[in-house]
Amino acid sequence: MQGPRKKRRPFPRRKICRFCADKSIEVDYKDPSLLRLFITERGKIIPRRISGNCAHHQRQVAKAIKRARQIALLPYTSSSP
Ligand SMILES: [Zn+2]
Repeated sequence: MQGPRKKRRPFPRRKICRFCADKSIEVDYKDPSLLRLFITERGKIIPRRISGNCAHHQRQVAKAIKRARQIALLPYTSSSP
């Protein structure tokens, strides 16, 4: 017999927005090493529920990523796997 199954969550329960947690970090479109934390290998923006960002900073990150793409600091989503 199996005991009561506990549902496991793939992600830590409470991720806090790292920009709120650490005031010394700022969203900067000229900082691809930072922005890369919020995109997948294929260049897609990681959604908020996974990144743990708050709405305010997620928006800033998304904006920064789009701007960084325009000046070729970050890749656009690649369609090929
Ligand atoms: Zn935040």
